[in-house]
Amino acid sequence: MKQTNLAIVVPCYNEEAVLPSSSKVLQKIMHDMIDNEQVSSESKILFVNDGSKDKTWELIKDLEAEDTVFTGLKFSRNFGHQNALMAGMKVAGDFADAIITIDADLQDDENLIPKMVESFQNGHEVVLGVRNDRSSDSSFKRWTAETFYKIMHQIGVQLVPDHADFRLLGQRAVATLMEYQESNLFLRGIIPQLGYSSEKLYYQRKPRLAGETKYPLKKMISFALDGITSFSVAPIKAIMSLGVVVIVISLIMMIYALVRFFTGNVTNGWASLMTSLWFLGGVQLVGISIIGEYIGKIYSEVKHRPRYIIETEDYSTTQSHKDNS
Ligand code: UDP
Ligand code: MG
Repeated sequence: MKQTNLAIVVPCYNEEAVLPSSSKVLQKIMHDMIDNEQVSSESKILFVNDGSKDKTWELIKDLEAEDTVFTGLKFSRNFGHQNALMAGMKVAGDFADAIITIDADLQDDENLIPKMVESFQNGHEVVLGVRNDRSSDSSFKRWTAETFYKIMHQIGVQLVPDHADFRLLGQRAVATLMEYQESNLFLRGIIPQLGYSSEKLYYQRKPRLAGETKYPLKKMISFALDGITSFSVAPIKAIMSLGVVVIVISLIMMIYALVRFFTGNVTNGWASLMTSLWFLGGVQLVGISIIGEYIGKIYSEVKHRPRYIIETEDYSTTQSHKDNS
């Protein structure tokens, strides 16, 4: 049987603090798998430098010089985690049979990698890493994540709870994924839609090796909103229900006001008028902004801009070197 050609894709944004140690860990795992003949000696660890402003790219170049198992590609600027993953998978999909994505801070358990490969070799095209313990995350992060999964579930989006972007995809699944052309990417929502035979492997999430999270609250909220609006029009429908409720309330108010008018019990009505005015104004603004969110999405999709721009791609250059020599 042909040996599996594996690629481990690692998105990196300002990761100079963790790269030296995490690259060592991945390197060892990869070499062990190559030595055990679980994967082919052509397997690669592909770093995607997502416009880092620190020494990340220099570190990647050093790693490439040190060991041919390492390779890297560099974006022209920061395009975000999801796009870094897409670029890495697309490039890796050209040469690898199985592609694993893992964060540079190794919060996900790297020891699962050989098991993922084994699962792939047993015929699973999609292998998902699922955290069964998040005690290393702050209680705030856990609470926001839980709320997010609940909302997503309620509006009917299929997600695998506690599965982030640590997964293995076979070459075929990656090719299918590339057919999803939307520029607002929410990978963990799309993956369950791909189908294929899949398996979940459980692990414990660790604290970050070093450095700070690249997902501050603001980015987390926008990521969550992206997830919701990419997969569901439930918020637009919710505006409709809200509108109906408000209309019913105002009808009741109207009847009440008329009754008081005809019973000669007329009050100035200033308070009720002002309250309803402000209330309705608020409801309308919320409604408009939700619709605006979708229109914004449509706008960015119709522009068809590239998801990312690759400035340097070392894998193809090393390949053409080989071809020339
Ligand atoms: N990342 C990236 N581009 C970004 C933000 C993050 O490539 O704009 C990478 C980052 O280097 C890391 C992964 O995405 O490898 C996950 O980020 P992080 O660990 O900071 O997120 P958290 O685990 O705190 O959610
Ligand atoms: Mg992390």
